Amino acid sequence: MNRIQIRNIGRIGGISEGEACTHGGNLFTNGGSLFTHGGSLFTHGRNEGSIWSSTENAWLLVEGKHIIDWGPMSDEPSLPPHTEVWDANGAWVMPAFVDPHTHLVHSGTREQEWKARLQGASYQEIAAAGGGIMHSVRSLRKAEFSALLDESRIRLESIRSMGVGSLEIKSGYGLDFDSESKMLRTTRMLAHEYPDMNIHSTCLALHAIPPEYREDANSYVRKVTQEWIPVWAEEGLIDFVDIFCERGYFGLEHLDALLECAHRLGLPVRAHVNQFSVMGAVKRAVEGGALSVDHLEELDDADLEALKNGETYPILLPGCSFFLGIPYAPGRKLADAGLPVVVGSDYNPGSAPGFNPFLTLSLSCLKLGLMPEEALNAMTIHAAGSLQLSDRVGSIGRGKEASLLFLSGLKDWSTLAYHFGQIPPLRVMLKGRFL
Ligand SMILES: [Zn+2]
Repeated sequence: MNRIQIRNIGRIGGISEGEACTHGGNLFTNGGSLFTHGGSLFTHGRNEGSIWSSTENAWLLVEGKHIIDWGPMSDEPSLPPHTEVWDANGAWVMPAFVDPHTHLVHSGTREQEWKARLQGASYQEIAAAGGGIMHSVRSLRKAEFSALLDESRIRLESIRSMGVGSLEIKSGYGLDFDSESKMLRTTRMLAHEYPDMNIHSTCLALHAIPPEYREDANSYVRKVTQEWIPVWAEEGLIDFVDIFCERGYFGLEHLDALLECAHRLGLPVRAHVNQFSVMGAVKRAVEGGALSVDHLEELDDADLEALKNGETYPILLPGCSFFLGIPYAPGRKLADAGLPVVVGSDYNPGSAPGFNPFLTLSLSCLKLGLMPEEALNAMTIHAAGSLQLSDRVGSIGRGKEASLLFLSGLKDWSTLAYHFGQIPPLRVMLKGRFL
């Protein structure tokens, strides 16, 4: 088993709450600014902390895939036999990013419709003209499995090189049994090819109403929830199920059908809600025990109340608002309400064709109103919680996976968000091995 002692770390950030330094250390919480906004520390009974704690001038021991221990350099223990030593040279360390909402598996891109949007067409107008999701559906249905895997792998290589160690990938561009199966198998194949990442598969067959069911959404929803999802669950192809609740897409009765199906099969639910309109889907999803509600660009007081009284993670996607020019979700308001705000990329070919986590971090501060440490929590430990992974990744803790970013040139954690979209000098370790 490989064992690496990393020495001379400038600062370790994102330490699990309650993980005091056992070596008489100088653990301190770097979260002072968090509380000036009314406190983002939440008490939902979830097991992930919300403070971006850090420790300075440290060593950290990795064994196999896991973090064994860390402490201050002044109290560095003698090295166990057969330990490799790596000098971090003052680099800072934080947990690898977790991206809880992507549509990374898709066929082809949509520059043409983006150009139409630049000339004034709206997202809804493009969809009505057969563009948007339907463009991706036509392309995906035609794509060979190997070609789909090849183009998806290129994106995955890119996202991991930017420091994302865990991510969720949705289906939803097939909208028929075989094509959705092809997408789900692609995600599972990527997970197989990249065991140093945690790649979760979400069924989003309820992404849009396919042309074959244009006049009969109810039959399509029945097909998906009563026939297809049980088969994919049985084959082990899905970890979560999802739905796009929106006018012209799926309504509350369809969300109910999905919640019922998921409950029956023991699958957690994620739901796209409130991107363009408020229709009561947040309350319905929260009451139905959904794991996350994603988007929330349009949010009313009843939605906020429902979230405060529930256990559902709010996942915000500022890259989508940026690219579409729609309002941003009220991140500050959600954080002030004590909710564990999560931020994801929403990477997809139509409304967010970029997954640079450092740009997402900046947008979280500039447009959602989060402080840098809150945004870092949102993209690490809270995101991990929303994928039911917070016991393994998303913070620095003994026994957690050693999926770490080594960053140079930082004056403060805010440096990462300040140089918007810029990727700092970065070295990535996933499950104990450097890329
Ligand atoms: Zn999405």
